[in-house]
Amino acid sequence: MPKVDETRLEIDLKALTHNYQLLAQKLPEQTQIMGVVKAFAYGTDSITIGKKLVDLGATHLAVAYIEEGMRFRRRGIEVPILVFYPQLEDLPKLLEYNLIPSVYNFHFLRKLKTALVEEDINNFPIHIKINTGMNRLGFDLKDVDELQNELTSGNYFKLEGVFSHLSSAGMPSEDDFTQAQINKFTGVVEAFRKNVNPNFIAHLCNSSGILSHPEAAFDMVRAGIALYGYGNNPEEQKELQIVASLKTRIAQLREIPKGASVGYDRKFKAEKTSKIATLPLGYADGISRTYGNQKAEVLIRGKKAPIVGNVCMDTMMVDVTEIECQEGDEVLVFGKAHTALDFDKEKQSIPYELITRISQRVTRVVLED
Ligand SMILES: *Cc1c(COP(=O)(O)O)cnc(C)c1O
Repeated sequence: MPKVDETRLEIDLKALTHNYQLLAQKLPEQTQIMGVVKAFAYGTDSITIGKKLVDLGATHLAVAYIEEGMRFRRRGIEVPILVFYPQLEDLPKLLEYNLIPSVYNFHFLRKLKTALVEEDINNFPIHIKINTGMNRLGFDLKDVDELQNELTSGNYFKLEGVFSHLSSAGMPSEDDFTQAQINKFTGVVEAFRKNVNPNFIAHLCNSSGILSHPEAAFDMVRAGIALYGYGNNPEEQKELQIVASLKTRIAQLREIPKGASVGYDRKFKAEKTSKIATLPLGYADGISRTYGNQKAEVLIRGKKAPIVGNVCMDTMMVDVTEIECQEGDEVLVFGKAHTALDFDKEKQSIPYELITRISQRVTRVVLED
């Protein structure tokens, strides 16, 4: 067996391919797929995932910040890249690296226009973001007339996309709200087609939208978490394949008598003779302290072992009293056989947070397809 780091995040490209193709099958054939690769491709490996998604047919990529987009350009990825939250101080880089800004307020639009005038650039591609109910980022519907005037005075901008974001697409109990968002967005898209540009790309759905409301796919979808293998419910979960598996090995095993304690502040006290395994993985690797004290479980030899005591910076201890195991045995923190949802026993968080927090000091190992 090749030597591997004890703690590693395995990235399975076969699973990514499966998920991409599954989403593509659910969508009308002409729908484009934008692969969302912000936050190091949801904590996996930006460039590997970005390249693979482009190979699979993604026409666009999306990131949160300009700096993230630059990383892809430097590595030769040439597809259009949408930047969800471009920062004004990075505007020169946006232009230099040929990244597409999401424009969500007049302040940014005007600053961008000033930069374009200075650089003598025309027809600069932008995507306009509309707030249809998420109340996070986006122009409100009342702003649309003024916005259309801004976009059609001069030829600084090329309206290449109009988009919005669904707040609760994965919640059947909020289907009426989702439908209202879809209706508002449809109205805005029609107005922009009529008044600004008949041919832009309209996009609304994130992963939950694709899985629960494929009828609202419009021209393109923004696929994130589902590509990495997480759905909203057990049925979706069954169809998707987990891409990222966090694995480690037992660093030390010891038996402790009844009454002995484990870890800082003696938070765990054994009620009987117990077997404790120490794992070389802690909060500095992205496993929050909130998972200590039996709030989460790892998988060892197919059996669940709860984290006992407080999570330390570089280590944590699990109770393996009931598990036949040895030092050096493999531990699945989360992955295929034991997902981030299974790890997070008390559902303190969501898979998004767990997977994006795995820190850069954990070695990434890519399994090719
Ligand atoms: C992160 C993000 C997405 C992707 O969402 P998922 O739920 O991961 O599919 C889509 N659109 C926007 C604006 C985002 O910020």
